Amino acid sequence: MIHLATLQEELKNGGARLIAVSKTKSKEQIMELYEQGQRAFGENKVQEMVDKYESLPKDIEWHLIGHLQTNKVKYVVPFVHCIHSVDSLKIAREIQKEAQKVDRHVKVLLQMHIAEEETKFGLDKKELIDILDYYTQGNLLNNLNIQGLMGMATFTDNEVQIRKEFRSLKDTFIFAKESYLLGNSFCELSMGMSGDYKLAIQEGSTMVRIGSMLFGERK
Ligand SMILES: *Cc1c(COP(=O)(O)O)cnc(C)c1O
Repeated sequence: MIHLATLQEELKNGGARLIAVSKTKSKEQIMELYEQGQRAFGENKVQEMVDKYESLPKDIEWHLIGHLQTNKVKYVVPFVHCIHSVDSLKIAREIQKEAQKVDRHVKVLLQMHIAEEETKFGLDKKELIDILDYYTQGNLLNNLNIQGLMGMATFTDNEVQIRKEFRSLKDTFIFAKESYLLGNSFCELSMGMSGDYKLAIQEGSTMVRIGSMLFGERK
């Protein structure tokens, strides 16, 4: 485990922000970090995030980092700070629909599939292009602010491979930004977890999602 202040210092020097991944952790554990100044927390389950939102201070920024199902979009859209896990046009359109209802603009990241494992969610390049065509051509995702990309590297000790995957995400980020003239609001690269955040920072991460290293192992 690492102290919040030590980690924040390291991240500041590397140019990345910390999303403290609090999934499965208690409200008391979240408040311990809150009292030390941390405001951005990440959750992967909608119900758990809603419960925590309702009973914790309202200046917490809630980041949804797990796969989102269409029927749950309406529960998070009213308060979520950023959805990192947009992995289909269908889910993007559902977020649009619900955001319009509550008159909000929602920050989102598009989750790319960069790992070797089959199980990890995410878009391939063609699906990314389909979403960005839709976003930039039709004004049909007006209430979404697509701010960048998210990805999870393969769970391996092979640093060469992890680095290669992060680098491919960064390349895709540059491709998207330049081909679609997305400008300064397209600026976030959410990559890096407890095991690989140092590599992620070296490869240009702007947000790292760190859980176990801050809170201890999950059961
Ligand atoms: C759980 C999780 C993390 C944090 O993982 P740690 O290894 O505990 O740091 C980061 N990103 C996503 C998408 C997660 O589900």
